[in-house]
Amino acid sequence: KKLGVALVGLGSYSTGQLGPALKSTEHCRLAGVVTGSREKGLAWARDYGFPEASVYGYDTMARIAENRDIDIVYIVTPPGLHAEHSIAAAKTRKHVICEKPMANTVAECDAILAACKEAGVRLSIGYRLHFDPLHEEVRRMARTKEAGAFMKMSGGFAFTMGRKSWRAEKKLAGGGPLMDLGIYVVQEACMAANATPVAVTARERPKKRPDFFVDVEESIEWTLEFADGARCEGFTSYDEGRNDFRAEAKDGWIELRPAFNYGGNRGSTHRGPIEFTAVNQQAVQMDDFALCVKEGRPSRVPGELGRRDLSIVEAIYASAAAGGKRTPIRA
Ligand code: NAD
Repeated sequence: KKLGVALVGLGSYSTGQLGPALKSTEHCRLAGVVTGSREKGLAWARDYGFPEASVYGYDTMARIAENRDIDIVYIVTPPGLHAEHSIAAAKTRKHVICEKPMANTVAECDAILAACKEAGVRLSIGYRLHFDPLHEEVRRMARTKEAGAFMKMSGGFAFTMGRKSWRAEKKLAGGGPLMDLGIYVVQEACMAANATPVAVTARERPKKRPDFFVDVEESIEWTLEFADGARCEGFTSYDEGRNDFRAEAKDGWIELRPAFNYGGNRGSTHRGPIEFTAVNQQAVQMDDFALCVKEGRPSRVPGELGRRDLSIVEAIYASAAAGGKRTPIRA
């Protein structure tokens, strides 16, 4: 039987990626939605063929507990609401997927982890790139060390933000581009180093549009240090475009460019271009979680991974706030 997924928040990621991906998943299907607009929810029910009774509002989410068609609740609202919505989802005793970044703070991550543990449900983060063949190649090379350990890494993910959005509001986004985009670079560095960094130095660049980015950074750069001496220079911004990652070892290297898109990423290594069969990242990610639930095994992108990344992000912000002071990471 396909497990039923309920999407919480029908914004652009649900509409453009997750909903369509759920039409091609093998082990799960869209079985309900939580939305502020009942009309929109009813249109989704017609489009995806689930009952109108499975359209919920944020205030009626608790009733999902009684819905036997729903096994997994997927939180796709702004990060500042992830803790509230993930905890509400856990209380319905359904398994939870929470989008990235997991929450605004490590403390909120802890609250989500505790709620899922108490409810006895599984928790996973919407880290789609862990299911992409190019990124699996980064991890494979990191694990096998076939060219040596990756010691020198760099990456950036940035785009120019044209119009105001919650992504530039600290309350809803938790921060600026580091929370939304930079977190991918942080994660990739951990994949390539096959470790969690021990310290960071970071600097926020001066804002070109301080009226637009009032309480969040506009651009920030950082250097992660790993215990074995590996380093990764990272960059993110809402003021320019960038999308790449490179990792170098003694006897080889890997470079992804673009690195972080839903599709159309490219990669090469010292051996030449990487040949791979493209996948629908979101479909593979959700199918994997459905299988984890069915088979009772942990996800490769568990809540603990989301929490780890937030602890690195918090150290990056702390270092930048202290004018670039080397800051230990306690993940
Ligand atoms: P969006 O603004 O398009 O959608 C957000 C949804 O949350 C909307 O439906 C909105 O109505 C709802 N919402 C509920 N309460 C709200 C409130 N108080 N304020 C604002 N919105 C509220 O955003 P999005 O791009 O769909 O992002 C949603 C989540 O998905 C974020 O956590 C984001 O980081 C994540 N995301 C992940 C990826 C990925 O590649 N994994 C890509 C895009 C977005």
